[in-house]
Amino acid sequence: MYHVGMNTTEHTILIAEDEEGVCKNIAEFLSLTCKNVYEASDGIEAYALYKEIHPDLIITDINMPGMDGLALVEKIREIDNEVPIIIISAHSEKEKLLRAVKLNLVDYIIKPIERKTLKALIKKAFVKDEVPEYTVKTVPIGQGFAFDHGNKMLYKNECPVELTRHQSLVIDILVQQKNRVVSATDIFFHVQEDYTLEYNSAAVRNLVKKIRKIFPEEMIKNVYGSGYILVVQESRVQEHISKYDGLLEAVAVLDRSNNFIGCNEMMLEMFGYRHKEDILGRDIFSLLLPSEKEKVTHALKHDEYTNDEVHFQRKDNTVLLAKTRCKQSVVDGQSVRTISIMDLSETVKRYAIDALTSLPTRAILEFEFANLMQRYQLYGEEACAIFVDIDKFKRINDTAGHQAGDQVLKNVAQILSAGVCKDDVVVRWGGDEFLILLFNTSIEAASKVAEHLRKDIETLRLECCREFSCSFGFDGLRADDTLDKMVSRVDYALIQAKANSQNCVIQFDSSSDVK
Ligand code: GH3
Ligand code: MG
Repeated sequence: MYHVGMNTTEHTILIAEDEEGVCKNIAEFLSLTCKNVYEASDGIEAYALYKEIHPDLIITDINMPGMDGLALVEKIREIDNEVPIIIISAHSEKEKLLRAVKLNLVDYIIKPIERKTLKALIKKAFVKDEVPEYTVKTVPIGQGFAFDHGNKMLYKNECPVELTRHQSLVIDILVQQKNRVVSATDIFFHVQEDYTLEYNSAAVRNLVKKIRKIFPEEMIKNVYGSGYILVVQESRVQEHISKYDGLLEAVAVLDRSNNFIGCNEMMLEMFGYRHKEDILGRDIFSLLLPSEKEKVTHALKHDEYTNDEVHFQRKDNTVLLAKTRCKQSVVDGQSVRTISIMDLSETVKRYAIDALTSLPTRAILEFEFANLMQRYQLYGEEACAIFVDIDKFKRINDTAGHQAGDQVLKNVAQILSAGVCKDDVVVRWGGDEFLILLFNTSIEAASKVAEHLRKDIETLRLECCREFSCSFGFDGLRADDTLDKMVSRVDYALIQAKANSQNCVIQFDSSSDVK
């Protein structure tokens, strides 16, 4: 036995052939493309070599002295059903070939060996080795890693990680037993697949050491004296975030390293992904245009709306214009950040602007109300609505003319917009009525805001119309609210304000609850 050749591809091939000329011929041909080609001249030598080198392919003659090819394959198959084997046979050996059918061979090749045929068979043997595509069958194991038990492939952010066969087998058993201690002996025999070998703790230590370099430090723990444990975050967080699957905003949960550990369905839709696993494990920056990194880092640090619009990147590389909001919280004992992402292009699409006042029309309300509700549910943020109606507006039209009426409408709209925060929403409900949604505002604060607006309007003097005023009805958001319910309440309060001599602010009186 001797080592024949080294080349670029990683495969190790074992040739068992007693006819020296044939053996040399094949070895020479193979060493052109294969890294390690080993030769053995009989079955016994071949079996010993097989155990030592763990070849990726065995090519064996059927007829050899001592242990023949069939006996060799049968012995190997007792412990290894996977290594590809090609049998070389002479025409006269049909019967033996029939016996070989059961042995899970790649194929057989009849002497004299044609290089073309051999090449085709080797290609067939290694088809399995071609890098398989990332599939949803892979098991996410956190931090962007996923493992496919079928082809024993490890992926990081959907890209295959290069591993030796032994390394992939170690990961295989650790993933199978995730979050449980796997003993070093179990690892050893899982990798060797040969119970006749003597346990070698140093070999396991070495292997695990190499694997630990692939994963973040905290993922593979050494449990002293017992073995190793692969720590996989079970997705309680995902369970928690699934509550927000029906929302119009994308909601995701990030761990401390800014990796996604949970997201709702809108997140997939917004970013063009099909499965949550496609997002989980990635870091948030992989979904951003590089220029936005600083902005978002700042927002994450300070738990706040990013002041500007953020440009995210969808799966198809198109840009998603969005506003984000972050909030620190604890889920399942884990310190996490929830991030919600509002697709601004979607908002723009949904609402029309009123030509006279330049305010959005009520078409935007459904969307904004969903936002309001979401913040209430996610962050416990209070919110309020205010209904505003110009007092005796018909009379202004009738006495000063429609153009004066238009001026009044425009000015009221301006005062309302200027008197609330940037993220609040003021819409022209219709005619001389306006609706305001106040985000993150207590009922006390809403009362003050309304009173401010009332005063600002009351004191405004226009040339076309010396005096005018508005009435206000307001109320806070309730846990079981719908847009209709909320509007009914503030409308009811507004009717009270009108009945109450107008130019005043009235909170909805819950003792007179309307349904
Ligand atoms: P109240 O004090 O009870 O609120 O009575 P009001 O006169 O303010 O309200 P009403 O609903 O009776 O009249 C609203 C009027 O607003 C009727 C309509 O002609 C007028 N209007 C609606 N849209 C416009 C507009 O775009 N421009 C002008 N100039 N008038 C409008
Ligand atoms: Mg009116």
